[in-house]
Amino acid sequence: MSDINDFRLAREKMVRTHLLPRGIKDPRVLEAMGKVPRHLFVEEALIGEAYNDHPLPIGNKQTISQPYIVALMTEALELTGTEKTLEIGTGSGYQTALLAELTRTVFTVERIKSLMVNARDLLNKLGYKNILYKAFDGTLGWKQYQPYDAIIVTAGAPKIPQPILQQLAEGGRLIVPVGNRYSQELIRVTRRKGRNIQQNLGGCRFVDLVGLHGWKE
Ligand code: SAH
Repeated sequence: MSDINDFRLAREKMVRTHLLPRGIKDPRVLEAMGKVPRHLFVEEALIGEAYNDHPLPIGNKQTISQPYIVALMTEALELTGTEKTLEIGTGSGYQTALLAELTRTVFTVERIKSLMVNARDLLNKLGYKNILYKAFDGTLGWKQYQPYDAIIVTAGAPKIPQPILQQLAEGGRLIVPVGNRYSQELIRVTRRKGRNIQQNLGGCRFVDLVGLHGWKE
């Protein structure tokens, strides 16, 4: 495995050319994206493309999202470092690593066991100790540890899965792509005084969220 400092320049360039000019401002998000070795989360043949601003395949017909969308979603969670965070769709584990850098504890759920195992192995090797993993249908959330201060869904849903919404803490933020199978809108839900306030953060395209409260297989 390459040294963690390899590709540092490529990461700095990614931050400078794809994130800053497009309005990503949160210094903690920019720092984390400049630190996490994204090239280790893609297939070896695609390492040279890891820091370009597009999604890449990670096996099992799934993709690692493009850096800008990852930054946008992470920034929208308004993380301060104290949060208990739920992630649905571990995939490669790249977003998980960012959350582990930026929050207290990450609970991550992935329905494809082999992806979860690969991500867990890599994140363990990278030294992350504040992540709990589960291979399960994440449209049900992860009830045992609710409520969560921040929730991120990294697959496209036909509607906001109600079990996930119910696991959001007072004052918490949920980011979820909602739409049809070809395009979605990034929705942020903020819970204030028991009410859910919704904002649309713009268009995006994700692979399907498959499960009881998502798309059928
Ligand atoms: N955040 C990931 C992107 C993953 S792509 C990364 O940084 O690499 C979306 C992931 O969501 C896929 O791995 C897919 O298997 C997973 N997924 C889809 N439906 C799911 C569900 N119901 N529960 C958990 N994971 C799900």
